[in-house]
Parts: sequence; structure tokens; C-alpha cells
Amino acid sequence: MIISDSHLHSRYSADSSEELKNIARTAVSKGIGIITITDHYDPDFPKDYDLDFSFDVEEYYQVIRMLKEEYSGQLDIRCGIEAGLMPHLKDEIDALTHKVPFDLVIGSTHIVNGMDPYYESFWKDRKPQEAYTEYFSAVEASIDNISSYDVYGHLDYIARYGPEGSFDYKEHADIIDVILKKLISADKGIEINTAGLRSGLKETNPSFEVIKRYRELGGDIITMGSDAHSAEFIGYGMDIARDYLDKAGFKYYTIFKERKPEFYLLKYIG
Ligand SMILES: [Zn+2]
Ligand SMILES: [Zn+2]
Repeated sequence: MIISDSHLHSRYSADSSEELKNIARTAVSKGIGIITITDHYDPDFPKDYDLDFSFDVEEYYQVIRMLKEEYSGQLDIRCGIEAGLMPHLKDEIDALTHKVPFDLVIGSTHIVNGMDPYYESFWKDRKPQEAYTEYFSAVEASIDNISSYDVYGHLDYIARYGPEGSFDYKEHADIIDVILKKLISADKGIEINTAGLRSGLKETNPSFEVIKRYRELGGDIITMGSDAHSAEFIGYGMDIARDYLDKAGFKYYTIFKERKPEFYLLKYIG
């Protein structure tokens, strides 16, 4: 039985139209025990993309709280958020994460120097290697400036969108090591995100090598999430994620409650 999914989007995210009720209903029907809703909130998202990744956080919290009550005894529903990090946003992110008592704050880099690698325009003026270096530098700068998150989301997000086969872990191992060491010494976790697997990517985000390295360096806080933007994908790829974590030397995975990590034995997923 798959027991949790710690990265899920609903219609509160500008790029999803899924109803929270449908997420809860589907999670129950798939036998999932704990879900954490983590809608996108990206302050200062570039206007060019014509998407507004902001919403009424108080309303969101109340709606999830009511749903949690409705499903009490059937499904444990937790309220999280995926905050879009940029190095200059410390005050905005700090304020956002203190608005309501979240269970989990995922901090993610979606924007690199004003552009999202999701869009082809990002790749036009950069060679892939330069793009990856620029992305990881932006991640490092966010880690240096912001600390009000619990886990770093899809740490190699950019690898989802580069030309096929262009991301080589070894080429960026040094900066990835620096990033992982900074996260570990700040008591931050990472996640294993399976979204890429359903769109043809051969790897989770981050890739197995990064996850293994995080463990080797002493990292032990790792959440599992599908990053589903529609209910049908809740729990997708969690069996693969479990095998990756097992192979990388983890005995436990993490689910957050009230911003604190709780550890669950991996062997009970399956
Ligand atoms: Zn994301
Ligand atoms: Zn997400």
C-alpha cells in the first residue's frame, strides 16, 4: 500500500484546475493514508508568462482544515505550500510561511534570473551546461538568503526541461555537493519528486545520484511527492521512489506535520 504523497496541487495553483474534494476522494480510493496539499505560491513570478501564482492563503488554509475534518478517520490531510524561491525574496517568503500554521513548506526554484526553464525561450540564449550552472547558482543563492522552508523541491528542476541527455551529474557534482552540504547543515530536507516519470523522463527529480549523495553526506530528511496537478496522478511512481531511496541507503522517509519531520519506515510502502 502506498501510504503518503507530500507534493500535490489543486485549483489554488495557477496551473491546476483540480478540486480539493476530488483529491481527497481519489486519495482514499487509492488507499493513501496521508496527503499534503502544497499549492504554488511564487512571489514576483515574471509577468511575461501571464500566470499568477498567488492566492488567498487564509482561505486556502480554512478550506483544507474543513476537508481534513470531513475526512477525519479516513484520510490524514495536511496543509502545505510550495513557495517559489528567488534569492531576493527572503522577506516575502518569511511572511508567507508565517501567515497560517502550515504542516510543510517546500521551497523550490522555478525562476532563474527572471526566466523559467520550463519555457523554450530560456534555452535559446544559453548552452545547456551554462544553463545548469546558472540554475544551481540560483539555488545556492536562495539557500544562502532564505531559511523559512522545510525541504527543497525537485532540486534539479531544470533537468526536466533541458535537451534530452544533456544533464550530466558529474559535470555539476561540485556545486551540487556545496548545495547538499548547506541544506544538511541548515537541517533542511529534500524531496524525491516523481512528476518527470509520467512525462517520459527516466529519472526522478532530483536524480538517483543526487539522492544517493545527499544520503552519503549525512542527509536523512526526504519527503516523497508526485507533484500531481490532477487527482489521477496522486501517488504516481511512489514504488519507484521507494526503491530509489532503499538503494540509496535510506531506511526512513519523511512526512511533515506542523513543520516538523516525522520518520516512517520505507519497508512499509509497497
Ligand atoms: Zn515546483
Ligand atoms: Zn509542485
